[in-house]
Amino acid sequence: MNKKELAAALSPDTDPAPFFALADKVRRERVGDAVHLRGLIEFSNHCRRNCFYCGIRRGNAGVRRFRLDAERILDCARTAAALKYGSVVMQSGEDLSWGTAELAGVVERIKVETGLAVTLSVGERSREDYRALRAAGADRFLLRFETSDRRLFAMLKPDSDYDERFRCLAWLKEAGFQVGSGVMTGLPGQSLESMADDILIFKELELDMVGIGPFIPSPGTPLAGAPAATLESALRMVALTRIVTGNAHMPATSAMGAIDPNGRQKALRCGANVLMPNVSPVEHRADYSLYPGKICVSEAPERCGACVDAMLESLGRVRAEGPGHSLKAAA
Ligand code: SAH
Repeated sequence: MNKKELAAALSPDTDPAPFFALADKVRRERVGDAVHLRGLIEFSNHCRRNCFYCGIRRGNAGVRRFRLDAERILDCARTAAALKYGSVVMQSGEDLSWGTAELAGVVERIKVETGLAVTLSVGERSREDYRALRAAGADRFLLRFETSDRRLFAMLKPDSDYDERFRCLAWLKEAGFQVGSGVMTGLPGQSLESMADDILIFKELELDMVGIGPFIPSPGTPLAGAPAATLESALRMVALTRIVTGNAHMPATSAMGAIDPNGRQKALRCGANVLMPNVSPVEHRADYSLYPGKICVSEAPERCGACVDAMLESLGRVRAEGPGHSLKAAA
C-alpha cells in the first residue's frame, strides 16, 4: 500500500472491517496463533525529559518518584520466569542515575539466573552505551519515534531531537539488538498523512517489533485538556502495520486496555500477537503512570498470569513457548 492508500484506510470515514480481517489473516499466516508474553518491569519513573504527553515528565511535580534497585528488578524477573513468560521488558523514564554499567550488570544477572530474553526500553543513550548493553546480553530494545511528523515531534518532545531519535534506532540496529519502535495515535494535530508515513517508516526500518498505542491525556501535563485518541485509530494503525510489515511482533498495548476494557482483545484480532503483563512490584505501579486509567495497577502478578490465559482462551489463541525472538532474521 502506498501513502495515499494508507491515509485513506486510516480515515474515520473508511470502513475498517476489510482491513481488520486482512490483518488477522496476515497475522495468522505470518506469525501464527501463539501469543508471546513479555513481563513488563517498570523500574524507574525518574526522567530527564519533559515530553508534553507523558505523566512522568520531569516537570510533573505530582509524581511520587521511585527507582527499584537491582535486587528488586531481579525479583520481578524471577516472577516472570515463574509465570513462564519468555522474556522481560525493563522500562523506565530516561533516568541517567541508572548508569549504563549498572544497567548492564542487571541485564547480565537476569540472563544468567533466569535465561529469559531481555528487552530494554530506557530511552536515548550513546552509541557506546547501546553497544555495552548489547554486550551484556540484552537481546532487544524498544524506542518509539512517537510520530514521523517533525513539527509535531518538536512540539511534543521539546528537549529531544528528531534526527537523534532516529540515529539511536540506527545505533541499536548496528549494535545487534532486535529493534522495536512505534508511535501514539490520536495526538493533537497529528494528520492521517503523517500516520501513513509512520507505517512506511516501520517498513523501511525493517523493525523486529512495532508498538502502537492511543494517546491518553495525562493530568499534570501540558496536554491534560486535549482529547483522547479513539481506540479505533490505534486499531487501524495496528491492522495496517501488520499488513505492511508482515511478520513484525506487535503488542496489544496496555494503553488500548486503558481506554477500552476489550481494547487488547480487539488488537489481538486485527494484527497483534504480543501481550505485556505487568510484573512490577504492586506498591509502585500507580506511580508509573504515563497516562491515567492504567490497567492492572493492583493485581498481583500471579493473577495477571491467569487473566492473560483466560483472555487467550476466549480468543482461541495459545501462549507462545520460548523467548519469542524476532521473525525477521529467520525469514
Ligand atoms: N522513556 C522511554 C520509555 C517510554 S514509556 C523512552 O523514551 O523510550 C513508553 C511509551 O509510552 C512511550 O514511548 C509513549 O509512546 C507512551 N506514552 C507516554 N505517555 C503516553 C500517554 N499519555 N498516552 C499514551 N501513551 C503514552
